Amino acid sequence: MSHDKKSNITGYLFTLLSVAVLAAGSWFVFRDTQPPALSIGPEAADINREAKVTIKASDPGSGLKWVEAKAVQDGKEYALFRKELPQGTGSFTQTVIFDKERIKEGEFTLRVTARDGSFYPFGEAGMSSASRDFNLDDTAPRIYVKTHTTNLNQGGAGVVEFALSEPARKVGIKVGERFFPAYERDGTQDRSYFCMFTLPWDTSPSDFSPIITAEDKAGNTAGRSFNYYANARNFRKDRIGLSDGFMERVLPQFTDFVSDVQGGLLEQYVKVNNELRRQNAEKIREIGRDTASEPLWEGEFKRLPNAANRARFADYRDYIYKGKVVDNQTHLGLDLASIRHAPIPAANTGRIVFAAFFGIYGNCVIIDHGLGLQTLYSHMSQIDVQPGQAVSKGDIIGRTGATGLAGGDHLHFGVYVSGTPVQPLEWFDGHWIKNNISGKLGN
Ligand SMILES: [Zn+2]
Repeated sequence: MSHDKKSNITGYLFTLLSVAVLAAGSWFVFRDTQPPALSIGPEAADINREAKVTIKASDPGSGLKWVEAKAVQDGKEYALFRKELPQGTGSFTQTVIFDKERIKEGEFTLRVTARDGSFYPFGEAGMSSASRDFNLDDTAPRIYVKTHTTNLNQGGAGVVEFALSEPARKVGIKVGERFFPAYERDGTQDRSYFCMFTLPWDTSPSDFSPIITAEDKAGNTAGRSFNYYANARNFRKDRIGLSDGFMERVLPQFTDFVSDVQGGLLEQYVKVNNELRRQNAEKIREIGRDTASEPLWEGEFKRLPNAANRARFADYRDYIYKGKVVDNQTHLGLDLASIRHAPIPAANTGRIVFAAFFGIYGNCVIIDHGLGLQTLYSHMSQIDVQPGQAVSKGDIIGRTGATGLAGGDHLHFGVYVSGTPVQPLEWFDGHWIKNNISGKLGN
């Protein structure tokens, strides 16, 4: 190798090195032009004393140097924390609470400031701040019961009116595991609510303890009881004979549902009668929330004309196959039998919220009458209405039939309060309605 060539290479390497040093220098100064990113959660502005507010800071560039948070209320500033962080800290999370000694109920502002480790020389590009306004509310709503006394029969319905001291988001009556939403009355000055509920058929009066509950926007919950009379009722027992012919006729409607069943007709039938019944009940509870916030109905409910009552509400049924009890269920509606394909009138004024094939109920229509009150018509041979359609009392919605789990042509008629089945007979009785429901709704 010649001397010339050697020095050329040295010069080349030197130039390369200089460029690298310059690049590194500028990278060192300019590498982090992004200030720290900050977030304050949760999104809700209304919080109570239990609320934990989470502050997150991150700076993937040069890392965080420090993070601090302050609360400002009525012009006074309270330090919540200031944290100096070790070099290279990419992200930082801190949860804060607001203690009684410093933050009072009412509005305040949370301010968070963070500094990163950059040496960006102009201004405060390495500094970030964020703030959020909160309303600290530590007082549960007060509930004022306006209804004097509610009279309930086991399996039957009732209504309570009450007022709240402040706006709330989840308001209703708890009955064991069941929740009956309340609906705010229009045009009242005192935040008045109506709540329809039931003493469920499966709950004895001694186990019944309904509680009005109201949760405000900050999550404070109030509960209180109210005056009522609960009357026990005895329900009947019934026996349903299962024949191969009957099961052969109804099961083809549920081919997909029973495709995994190991066994014969009976095993398939029992699966439909239990699992599909349960799924259908769940769906009815869901539909129960799709309701008008005011009563759409008026007066007594119309019964299928000229029809014999074949089965009652809350009959406890044993299912018999070849002399043995193979299943049992509770019948949660009325079976009304008229002529074949009899026209079915809407029991009262309302809006169609369901109209389709529906499991054990076959072709089925559900009408919403407001405040969670709904009527169900099933085993229909023909449906003449569509979801969303308004109907008046007596409008023909379809015809009776034997679709779903039906032994013959009839109407299975159900009445529900927020998805829980109730005794339909009460709703055919104008006096009962006036004394127990409409008199208390003021309509
Ligand atoms: Zn029935």
